[in-house]
Amino acid sequence: IVAAQGIPGVAGAALRVPLVTGGEIGYANLDHAASAPCLDSVRSAVDEFLPWYASVHRGAGFASQVSTRLYERTRDILRRFVDARTTDTVIFTRNTTDSFNLLARSLPRRTSVVVFDTEHHAALLPWRGPNVRRVQLPRTRLAAVSVVDEALAACPEGPRLVVVTGASNVTGELLPVAEIAAVARKHGARVALDAAQLAPHRRISLRELDVDYVALSGHKLYAPFGAGALIGRSDWLRAAEPYLAGGGATKLVTSDAVVWNTGAERHEAGSPNTVGVYALGVACEQLAANWTAVGEHEATLLERLRKGLAGVPGCAELRLFDAPVDRVGTVSFVVDGFEPGWLAAVLSAEYGIGVRDGAFCAHVATKRLIGECGRDGQQAVRVSLGLGSTEEHVDRLVLALRQIVARGARWEYTKVDGRWAP
Ligand code: PMP
Repeated sequence: IVAAQGIPGVAGAALRVPLVTGGEIGYANLDHAASAPCLDSVRSAVDEFLPWYASVHRGAGFASQVSTRLYERTRDILRRFVDARTTDTVIFTRNTTDSFNLLARSLPRRTSVVVFDTEHHAALLPWRGPNVRRVQLPRTRLAAVSVVDEALAACPEGPRLVVVTGASNVTGELLPVAEIAAVARKHGARVALDAAQLAPHRRISLRELDVDYVALSGHKLYAPFGAGALIGRSDWLRAAEPYLAGGGATKLVTSDAVVWNTGAERHEAGSPNTVGVYALGVACEQLAANWTAVGEHEATLLERLRKGLAGVPGCAELRLFDAPVDRVGTVSFVVDGFEPGWLAAVLSAEYGIGVRDGAFCAHVATKRLIGECGRDGQQAVRVSLGLGSTEEHVDRLVLALRQIVARGARWEYTKVDGRWAP
């Protein structure tokens, strides 16, 4: 069905899962924001590549040449994927968290960092020290830009960096990245974009947004785990201490001295995740060729989902901004009288639906947004759509919630190791 709509197919679309009430059912994976299922094309490309992988940059053999070629080619794919400047560097990392930690370690001394407190912990926590300003995200996009403006104006002289997410992992709402970048320029600041949640859903252009760095994760981009990237201006990265010390990062080592590489390899010591990087490149290429179909698919499902949730008694959706804004297919909500962890367990056990519950590694955002919709609590349920989602999944979720609210669970649940289980 998915292929017929012109949308890239995903592995796992036909998975069936057991129900505690008996029998089994097609798995409704509504947790794409955590990790998206692998694209069919990625799966077959990786399968074809597996017999061929060999050491990258270090071997003269044919398989090493193939691996090196594919690994290096992926830098170009990623550069195109985010429409980077020709001078930008592409460093392969493990994921977005790794990318931001690398960037944090590469900042010139006394760089001031401005970051919204609502960011994912991967974008919030790597920056340390007295020059970090965590600012509260206000309820309008316009005010958000002003808050950055004011925070930058209060920064001491010296290098400055603003860190901002493209799309919230809690609400899916898009942040005003281009506007923030314009304000940052005024203050001579650089901007780092957390594209973990934006990149799987929208075309990104570093040039059009005028941002300096972008971080992303392969496992959210329909490739398997273990490969991500930091893409952006090379000067700070070239001047920084190598992120990891070891083979591959060096030009020359003598018994008492080391000359480090100055290119991307400086921060890629050790044998890299060649298969993961290759998979990431294949996924990016396929997404880039299908943005229109991807966007339409997700927008239709998102509307259906939000309409459905609005009809569930006691259900309140979390939102960053007061006015409706452009957003990707991620929705978090609470339902009066029901613990999010318990709801998620019932949805899985009795309906075969996979959602996420908790505070989504964005504790400040989740707690505040729950308070702002007039409820108490620190945790919510998150539903996130993607290429593996169908109308049936959305309808099943909405019906399940209505049934649970009306008549509770059909099974009894107890807490085992902190998680609800039937
Ligand atoms: N930023 C955002 C907005 C995210 O949603 C996530 C993952 N939940 C991350 C960063 C971190 O990604 P990873 O776990 O792949 O490092």
